[in-house]
Amino acid sequence: MSTTPVGPPGASYVATPVPPAGIVGPGELLALFRARSPLTRTDVMTLTGLSRSTVNQRIDLLIDAGLLVERGPDVVPGRGRGRPAGSFAFNVERGVLLVCDIGATALRAAICDLSGRVLEDRPLVSDVTEGPEAVLARVDPLFAELLAACGRSAADVRGIALSVPGPVDREQATVVSPPIMTGWDRFDIRGWFARTYDCPLLLEKDATAMAWGEYRTHYGEADTFLMIKLGTGVGAGIIAGGRIHRGADGAAGDIGHTQATGEDGDVGPLCRCGNSGCVEARAGGWAMIRDLAAAGRDVSTVDEVVERIRTADPVAVGLARAAGRVLGVALAETVNILNPRVVVVGGQLAEAEEQIFAGLREMVYSRSLPLATRRLELRRSRLDERAGSVGLALLLADHVFAPATVDAVLADSAGPA
Ligand SMILES: [Zn+2]
Repeated sequence: MSTTPVGPPGASYVATPVPPAGIVGPGELLALFRARSPLTRTDVMTLTGLSRSTVNQRIDLLIDAGLLVERGPDVVPGRGRGRPAGSFAFNVERGVLLVCDIGATALRAAICDLSGRVLEDRPLVSDVTEGPEAVLARVDPLFAELLAACGRSAADVRGIALSVPGPVDREQATVVSPPIMTGWDRFDIRGWFARTYDCPLLLEKDATAMAWGEYRTHYGEADTFLMIKLGTGVGAGIIAGGRIHRGADGAAGDIGHTQATGEDGDVGPLCRCGNSGCVEARAGGWAMIRDLAAAGRDVSTVDEVVERIRTADPVAVGLARAAGRVLGVALAETVNILNPRVVVVGGQLAEAEEQIFAGLREMVYSRSLPLATRRLELRRSRLDERAGSVGLALLLADHVFAPATVDAVLADSAGPA
């Protein structure tokens, strides 16, 4: 039995993971429908081992809650007693999800159905260092515009997710001591959106959201997966054992602030984090802007850096090759520790693929252990600038429809016994 793919055109999505056998509650039954819609009552009995009466009761409960819809009964109406042998599907139109991938110099907002499929999205130039009020005041009208474009209102929003280029306290949905996000430290993001929307809000690190987007849409079989974001800064998102690995405090994957020794052994330039010689202080987008400006080039954005590399400005190409080697050494060490099956490189700088990847490949394959690279795939992002928003939408759908959450909502709406 296959599932309907979700997501923007061109993305070959893998299915939502199927819950383990022996499921009991309606929340877990909904998880089964999210993974494998449509299903008949008989399909559900076969897959779960539940009795017909229990399956009927659970399906009725989910239909009453608007979470399941019946599809084309294949018996003639009025044929007598008994239920029609129609099939049932997760009602992805029961509401919408809003997501926004906030980067250092741009953001992308999207509206998605409840499966996490992106329905509409909008990019916008936005400088994250202007602080939370300025940036979120741009997100508000974008969300309103996306809702209007889909004929929806704030009351239809079932969840919101944002990603940011900084350390995140997921429990509180706040940014914590960010090196570049001026004014965002502990800002009450949930409080901001609670003025308009009554729904859960998730906050995620940018590279983690991108990792989940790429992994779930293209590399679901990879098990151990690494996403490297090369943008203004350098970050990584890690999937281990098919799950996001955030570390004990959510700080996992920060390879941009690991030490990169220079070829001549020098300490290296000052980083935005306060240390010297970090990987991103040598190879991040902001470092390349700095070095190109020092060489007399008129550049102020990462897009302009990429343009210089593409048009074969010799200084820019030299910097890109050197950056590729610095990133390659950092990646080789990460590969030795994590042994990923797939490494995907995304972010604006990855658009200078030819020049960056040359150094990256050279260092990864020469410095990683042979066993770790024997079956390693090193690839360019397939979702490109949408990786973050697609990942956020899929994360959010899993959060909003987690079996325990669905069971709690259903118990609440049933009222006291
Ligand atoms: Zn640093």
